[in-house]
Amino acid sequence: MSRLAGLAGEIYSWLMASDSSTSTQDSTTVVGADADVDVAVDVTVDVDVIVIGAGVCGIYQLYRLLEMDLSVTVLEAGDAPGGTWYWNRYPGARFDSESYTYGFSFSKELLDEWDWSEHFSPQPETLRYLNYVVDKFDLAQHMQFGWRVERATWDEGSRTWEVTREDGTSLTCRYLLTALGLLSVPALPNYDGMDSFTGQSFHTFHWPKDPVNLEGKRVAVIGTGATAVQLIPELAKSAGSLTVFQRRPNWCAPLHNGPISPDEMAEIRARYDEIFERCANTPGGFIHGPDPRSFHEVSPEERHAFWQELYEEGRGFGIWLANFREVLMDEECNAEFTEFIANKIRDRVDDPVVADKLIPKDHGFGIQRVPMETNYYEAYNRPNVHLVDLNETPIETITSKGVRTADTDSFQGTEHEFDIIVYATGFDAITGAFDKIDFIGVDGQKLRDKWVDSPITFMGALVNGFPNLITLAGPTAGSVSTNFPRGIEIAVDWASDLLTHMLNNGQTRVEASAEAERAWTDHVREMYGFLLLRKAKSWFTGYNANLDRPQKPRYMIYTGGNPRYRKKLNEAAAAGYEGVDLD
Ligand code: NAP
Repeated sequence: MSRLAGLAGEIYSWLMASDSSTSTQDSTTVVGADADVDVAVDVTVDVDVIVIGAGVCGIYQLYRLLEMDLSVTVLEAGDAPGGTWYWNRYPGARFDSESYTYGFSFSKELLDEWDWSEHFSPQPETLRYLNYVVDKFDLAQHMQFGWRVERATWDEGSRTWEVTREDGTSLTCRYLLTALGLLSVPALPNYDGMDSFTGQSFHTFHWPKDPVNLEGKRVAVIGTGATAVQLIPELAKSAGSLTVFQRRPNWCAPLHNGPISPDEMAEIRARYDEIFERCANTPGGFIHGPDPRSFHEVSPEERHAFWQELYEEGRGFGIWLANFREVLMDEECNAEFTEFIANKIRDRVDDPVVADKLIPKDHGFGIQRVPMETNYYEAYNRPNVHLVDLNETPIETITSKGVRTADTDSFQGTEHEFDIIVYATGFDAITGAFDKIDFIGVDGQKLRDKWVDSPITFMGALVNGFPNLITLAGPTAGSVSTNFPRGIEIAVDWASDLLTHMLNNGQTRVEASAEAERAWTDHVREMYGFLLLRKAKSWFTGYNANLDRPQKPRYMIYTGGNPRYRKKLNEAAAAGYEGVDLD
């Protein structure tokens, strides 16, 4: 018997229809009562809670809901759990944050059992880890795969959601929780002729499960974001030739990955509490927090020595997030550090013309998400790697044989022939996965209409007009801008506490108030004002030129920092969920 059903039964003296620990097809009799709305007295739902998505977030949320003795089904479009680590199988895919900061912290047993083999775990190991978690806690029995949700419709009378898949079948639930991922809707370009290409072509997100034979192949990569920066050095090693089509370069910095020895793993394990505590208190939720010194109180020589150390030895995002605060807030400080990094690129790339093309001109270091690299710049020193600058020679069309660029010295342009074209062209980030589902709330309002200009939420978790929908680590949540798993735990714990509070108080309807939502959205916008990243033309600000929508800034993430975000969530909860209408 599920707890929700049990409590409803206790409160309203109703009988339970089934034991929820079996399948999602079981029925649970639940109840609502509202003086204003004609609420059905006896409503049958398939499960108490539906979670959409079986990635890192969905897995942890499922674990928490089962702990609360609720009946839950996780609906997942893929055919196995793992989310982003299930889909992104391209060569070189790995964490950019330290493995031991990425794992779940909720189970000491799990922490004791799992060994990370590298400081930045490669995708296959991460996927193994997530499957290990699913198996350990016996979670797969509550998941349905190949379930791509097409529509979710709120019914005010019964206070239930009906969730419908592509084939028209549907399930009903009391609470609908989204764990859709930030970057789960790949954005392909819309070049003419893409369908006519006779070789293999795919977006990095859809890199085939079967091995791709690269030996001697002519390979194209379009795009130079964090994904391409991981992929390019790997392809360079095995492809016959590799041509990179670059529109705007990014500022990249060395990852400094390495193996974790058994002794080191034992030492990490002993420090897990300290590691998670540290992550909880840095602005980004990562292990790296800003240098306590002010940029201005340190001499230029000392600054350079510090940067040199970060560049040569600092692991992962340290160079971005353990730098002086001013580097990300003040144009002048940013320009000085940016020049330091530009010189590193010049040092590492043999051909000065190529080096110059790889140096961004339209934004400073760290304004966009910094791709972490391993031999990225050295890849361009190989004879089999070529860089095509799309500002000089834009892509005109994809042909049956490859890519035709418009060259200034040739009327017909140049046709580059390939066996494989890889689109590393990014995502319809953060709101894209929500737009793909037709969420229909109170009075038929559509979520995609409400968010057409920019997402509007209460703390990234609740949306006015969409009761009983909890957008876990959703748009404008702090968890979106922090180390994702650490942010996920914050979001899931808050949502689980909210549901527990409702169960304990016999409440069956939750909705953010319009005022609280407005105040949060204003606060999110205000926080953007403090960081230079507000100027980014990247997914942080909702840009992707491949998307059929106006290219203007969207306030996608909460940039006020992890501790402030957590404090605000905790304060709202402590005040009896201030800003949230509960009934
Ligand atoms: P991205 O950062 O959005 O980069 C997309 C790239 O494709 C950009 O270089 C973009 O150029 C280019 N592009 C897009 N459309 C194009 C077109 N029509 N023609 C030519 N170039 C085009 O996407 P991403 O590299 O997949 O990375 C997205 C995010 O995924 C990262 O920021 C990161 O948060 C996450 N990620 C994480 C990891 C990790 O943690 N290990 C690894 C990889 C990615 P413009 O800049 O000119 O638009």
